[in-house]
Amino acid sequence: MKQRKPMPKIATTTEENISGLGQRQTRQRDAILQVLHSANGPLPVPEIHARALELRDKLGIATVYRTLKLLQENGTIQAVTLPSGETCYQGEPHAHHDHFQCRKCNQVFDLDVCPLRLKSGTELPGGFVVQDHQMLLYGLCPACV
Ligand SMILES: [Zn+2]
Ligand SMILES: [Zn+2]
Repeated sequence: MKQRKPMPKIATTTEENISGLGQRQTRQRDAILQVLHSANGPLPVPEIHARALELRDKLGIATVYRTLKLLQENGTIQAVTLPSGETCYQGEPHAHHDHFQCRKCNQVFDLDVCPLRLKSGTELPGGFVVQDHQMLLYGLCPACV
């Protein structure tokens, strides 16, 4: 697995702290959340950055990385790591769902159906007890078929 991009280091300001966000950060966070909630699947960071810039100018990529990490840590959003090593983010973690990546346009979509009927608590050979799963299927999205 490829290594994740290191978090860009940014200058620390007085309004920055781990537990809370300043006013400016709150607006930036809201723009990022709006982007994630209007997406139809997990988005890679550069895409989140580009879309958030349309809502709010002067939003640095470092801020996007930092905000996403913060939101992930407090459980507001979910990270999905693709086999390519790229980390995508999605809005509020809702009920179980799997993902589909288009091999042509590379977009990742949320699937409404779960292709794997495997109940939580199922015991697999070897004594592994399943709690949940997350699948990434590949193929062509409706726009690329
Ligand atoms: Zn596609
Ligand atoms: Zn599933």
